[in-house]
Amino acid sequence: MVRLKLHLQGAVQGVGFRPFVYRTARRLGLSGYVSNNPAGVFIEVEGARGRVDSFLRELETDTPPLAKITHRETALAAPVGYREFEIRPSSERGAPAAVLLPDMSICADCTRELLDAQDRRYRYPFINCTNCGPRFTLIEGLPYDRPNTTMKAFTMCPECQAEYDTPRDRRYHAQPNACPRCGPAVWLVDAQGTPRARGESAVRGLLDAIEQGGIVAVKGIGGFHLICDATREAAVERLRARKGRSEKPFAVMFRDLEQLRAYATPDPEEEALLLSQERPVVLMRRKGEALRAVSPGLLTVGAFLPYSPLHHLVLEGLDVPIVATSGNLSEEPIVKENDEALARLGPLCDALLLHDRPIHRRCDDSVLKEAGGAPQFIRRARGYVSMPVLLPTRLKRPVLAVGGQLKNTFAIGFDTQIVLSQHIGDMESPESLAHFEETLADFCALYQFKPELIVHDLHPRYETTRWAQAQTGADRVGLQHHYAHILSCMAEHGLRESVTGIAWDGTGYGTDGTLWGGEVFTCDLTQCERTFHLRPLRLIGGEQAVREPRRVALSILFDLFGEESLEMDLPPVAAFDSAERAVLWTAWHRKFHAPFCSSAGRLFDAVAALTGRIQRCTYEAQAAMMIEDCYDPDVTDRYAYAIDNGQGDGQIDWRPLFRDLLADRDPAGAPTRFLNTLVGIAHDAAVRVGREIVCLSGGVFQNGPLRAMMVRRLGEAGFRVYHQRAVPPNDGGISLGQAYYGGMLKRINGVIHEGG
Ligand code: ZN
Ligand code: ZN
Ligand code: FE
Repeated sequence: MVRLKLHLQGAVQGVGFRPFVYRTARRLGLSGYVSNNPAGVFIEVEGARGRVDSFLRELETDTPPLAKITHRETALAAPVGYREFEIRPSSERGAPAAVLLPDMSICADCTRELLDAQDRRYRYPFINCTNCGPRFTLIEGLPYDRPNTTMKAFTMCPECQAEYDTPRDRRYHAQPNACPRCGPAVWLVDAQGTPRARGESAVRGLLDAIEQGGIVAVKGIGGFHLICDATREAAVERLRARKGRSEKPFAVMFRDLEQLRAYATPDPEEEALLLSQERPVVLMRRKGEALRAVSPGLLTVGAFLPYSPLHHLVLEGLDVPIVATSGNLSEEPIVKENDEALARLGPLCDALLLHDRPIHRRCDDSVLKEAGGAPQFIRRARGYVSMPVLLPTRLKRPVLAVGGQLKNTFAIGFDTQIVLSQHIGDMESPESLAHFEETLADFCALYQFKPELIVHDLHPRYETTRWAQAQTGADRVGLQHHYAHILSCMAEHGLRESVTGIAWDGTGYGTDGTLWGGEVFTCDLTQCERTFHLRPLRLIGGEQAVREPRRVALSILFDLFGEESLEMDLPPVAAFDSAERAVLWTAWHRKFHAPFCSSAGRLFDAVAALTGRIQRCTYEAQAAMMIEDCYDPDVTDRYAYAIDNGQGDGQIDWRPLFRDLLADRDPAGAPTRFLNTLVGIAHDAAVRVGREIVCLSGGVFQNGPLRAMMVRRLGEAGFRVYHQRAVPPNDGGISLGQAYYGGMLKRINGVIHEGG
């Protein structure tokens, strides 16, 4: 006879783990108990040695589908004579190391019941079970138990309670368990908030509104969606006008793969990603012109499949796919409360479908893209947050990383993990800052987290920098933006050695006060040398040049040909009138309001403008997305470039590149030749730096073909190449790098120049 004590951590709460342990122990005739507390799952099993061994084996091999054990501690002890095996009530004590689980998409069993007319939950929008349903957005505290969720207000009916209490039932301890008799309900209101229908007739009313070309707001899992018929151009255009989003693509939800295949051409990897438990939005090639208005000027569509019961009810009732975009005004946080929806979304839509299951925290849909067999995040939120990034080493202190300015996320690091927040968004609006503070307070409470060190960007005008600088009670350190990008890549792969870091990005603040973004670093966890960088160009008009590729193109032309550029017959020149041209030339050559920047992202803008694709952008990375669309694998040659030019200044000179491009007699192939040139530059730079490991990060690597080519080319040359898989390569991932840096700093004194 032995007694084994086990402590498990990871995704082990709210995934049917305790019932699994209970069933396994009972079947093997073992006694003891299992319990949850904030530090994880505790188990004691007592019985014959061989049976305890079998128990341990099954714990490895037969765990519930959503469970992931990240830490396991075992200890043998003298038997105490337990009589049976029981599930003990959760305890609130102990350090909260338990994983806060992501929201789970509806499982196949629940979908079947949802559409089964004989089932007591037929067409019930809140059906769920132990293997599916919301978690992250309704958990108020740990451990994960019903009284700690927004379901606490709903008392289960006897039938639901019996399911909840029966270890063999698939709803055993399913915290959001509910049915039409005892659980939340939906209702439909008009734009003024007047109730129109409840339950099934509310869903019917919603479908009618969509079929008539209306725009509706629907309360979902992590917030509201704005929805309309994706194939009706007039409805889509009206949604654009009302939402203040002139061209940025909308995500489209399809009933199933079969419907999707009529509008897009997913490959098997993309289909697998669409069907994955997390159900992200996946960017892929669209087909035909039916969805033209959804992603104007692009050949792609952001597609996803139903992930909640309500989505199934909506799409089963329609013959068309729907636009399902975050319920917010351009770049503001997603709306989650009923009142808030009436006030903010009411003016944008014709009807709203509300429900009474409160959303505790906002969470947008995640967006991924597949390239070269590797899915990559564009936005990391629902389904993935808050699974931590696990480190092979222990952080030296609890650290808070506040992220950047656009696509912001923050991160908290403690012990051996870093937890990133969900996508917070662009920090420009006061609402975003409030969302940031609210989410941070929430994370701190949930994890009982108090930082000893706060890491922020160096940009003095980022909202997050200002916020960090106003904090007292913790040390602070600023970290260069692109170094943070590379550290983010190093963190997710557990790298500590000296590496070549290729950080190609939009713009970020450099240590010399100019804007960077085309950097090749030699760096480790504490030091970073800027070994190579793109030749700086002048952003004529500063920020305005980031929105107008034609200004970047002109700056490059001025650098190459001086004032004569103004006489050239080129699209970006023609995009200005003669008075504007004169002003731009003066600004450029007098260096007036034309700051230097070495950003690789701006070169994409210049290529897009010079080849006549776009002169002004209405959303970030628009020009880069158009360049990516033009990629042609049959074009294999490239333009010229020069690294260092014998000057030893570390400059990567793009002037030969643009001379070649302007002389190119095959303009259709120009974007691909440009990408091929970037691959050549990366290869040559990596050879010169001479480190075995190359890390790729920065927004430019959202370009799938470019990243895939770089990984292949550098791999063939014998480098070990790492890119971002766990977090986005864009600014949504820098908080991870900041946290890794701050958590691994050996000394704070002497490294920190401020704060404390
Ligand atoms: Zn289910
Ligand atoms: Zn019930
Ligand atoms: Fe960046």
